[in-house]
Amino acid sequence: MASTSSLIETSCCSDPANLCGRCRADRFAQLRGVAACRGEVWAMDIARRRGRDVAWPTGSEAILTIARTKVQDLGRDQLLLEMLAGELVRLAERWWSAPGS
Ligand SMILES: [Zn+2]
Repeated sequence: MASTSSLIETSCCSDPANLCGRCRADRFAQLRGVAACRGEVWAMDIARRRGRDVAWPTGSEAILTIARTKVQDLGRDQLLLEMLAGELVRLAERWWSAPGS
């Protein structure tokens, strides 16, 4: 008898920490909206606390480090998390330069 979770599970990979390219792309497609949303909330939070009169620190390693912590619960595959962190930073940066767009 299949459990509900195995019915929804589309992954062919048994190890969630080591996905194949296809499963990683699937997971990224499913989760990029979550990462994007968190990126915007993050940027809004910084703007509220510090104001937006400073430039977004594009390419900052510190920013990327924080972004990684914000997507850590979304998966265990390191490359997937790296992609999600990049997406999160991209959307935070976009919000920063054009809030509400
Ligand atoms: Zn797979």
